[in-house]
Amino acid sequence: MKTHSTTGLYWFRHDLRLHDQPSLAKTAQQCDALILLYVIDPKWFKTNQFELVAMGAHRQQFLYESLVTLNDNLKANNQTLHVVVGDPVETVCSMIREHNISIFGFGNHQGFYERQQINSVVRKFDSLTIVSSHNASLFTPDSLPFSLDNMPDGFTPFRKQVEQRVMPEPCVPAHYGFPPPPAIAQTDWQTLPLHHGAISAFQGGENAALKQLQYYLFDSDLVATYKESRNGLDGWDYSSKLSAWLANGCVSPRRVYQELKRYERERTENDSTYWLYFELLWREFFYWQQAKHGSKWFSQTGIKNTISHSACNTDIIKQWQAGQTDNAYVNACLRQLNATGYLSNRGRQWVASYFVNELAQDWRFGAAYFEQQLVDYDVGANWGNWQYLAGVGSDPRGQRQFNLAKQAQMYDPSRQFLRLWGERNAS
Ligand code: FAD
Repeated sequence: MKTHSTTGLYWFRHDLRLHDQPSLAKTAQQCDALILLYVIDPKWFKTNQFELVAMGAHRQQFLYESLVTLNDNLKANNQTLHVVVGDPVETVCSMIREHNISIFGFGNHQGFYERQQINSVVRKFDSLTIVSSHNASLFTPDSLPFSLDNMPDGFTPFRKQVEQRVMPEPCVPAHYGFPPPPAIAQTDWQTLPLHHGAISAFQGGENAALKQLQYYLFDSDLVATYKESRNGLDGWDYSSKLSAWLANGCVSPRRVYQELKRYERERTENDSTYWLYFELLWREFFYWQQAKHGSKWFSQTGIKNTISHSACNTDIIKQWQAGQTDNAYVNACLRQLNATGYLSNRGRQWVASYFVNELAQDWRFGAAYFEQQLVDYDVGANWGNWQYLAGVGSDPRGQRQFNLAKQAQMYDPSRQFLRLWGERNAS
């Protein structure tokens, strides 16, 4: 029998959902009162070393919608989301003190700063019960068939070992009996510093994430032709479009995998259904690589410690960002990115290759621009892919240079994409 009441705190970060949340469920079970917290860091909107902000308008809107949905879903479970604007570590620490928190729950995330944040909080409190789980990945450090230090630096050996030896973790069912929050100020949603209200194809939040998963698999059967369609340049249906929801944790990768397997059992299993898993393994590869390589993830010489272009000519970089280079396809892609917050995988490869090879600029300025613009920005996938293309990352072939004229003929033979996003539509 409990002799005194316990108050728990769960810190949401890149896991804005209720399904497949092992540490949220465990935290809720162990306390009598529970604070569910999200912290908005004002640094996200301050100009950084790349003369950019970390979180541009598209990302802000997606995040805002994801938080609103999470709050709605919590309300249906007699709880509420407490959103605070402030330095994340300071905010969490002062909440722990102020509310006499004894149980601290969170999802482990392998981003460099995300790990630092948790370490900074945890080392300040001796008697805190920690409830954490790896809820942003298919695997866990314990289930991977190698230690992170010995993880292969190439995708193919990583994939082969994983495919031969392990299965993704199962999803955890979401049956919550949330304890109530303690007396705490209500979130003022009107004053949150997140841009919202624009029209976007990407609707943030868990509900929209699960709807898109259902659409791409069971409603449309599009997944059964994914391998053929995935190199598309424009439109909703050529790829899963799950990235922004995965990046914000509105859907868990394990849920995507679980549904994919169900689709294979109930409908069809073919090269395309396998290929969606293959791409999730790319995500997984970069996710764990960042844990292995620490701050090298953001260094100019990358995980390989290789020399790369160090130029950062402001005019050249700004022209690239605005889609005003000498290459019509690069320009079209950047206009699409700027207007929508999304760019196809092929478009990302083109503009990154052009930035590194033709413009010969420091790849980190390109990666930072994607960080600002992409609705699906993910620290592992973004910086990992940029390093890969810049020749300082995990690509055994070294720097990749795309022949854009040839690529355009192959992927936009009727120039439809160029007509849609080309010069005539320049704003
Ligand atoms: P699908 O083709 O349907 O793929 C399914 C899922 O697999 C994606 O949602 C994503 O989670 C994962 N995935 C697919 N390709 C990759 C890849 N190359 N690397 C890692 N994961 C992958 N993806 C992000 O999620 N966030 C980023 O910040 C990001 N930055 C990128 C930067 C560059 C320079 C490049 C070349 C690629 C980047 N990608 C990033 C990977 C990829 O372009 C996107 O994941 C994909 O275009 C998203 O659309 P989708 O969900 O329809 O993908």
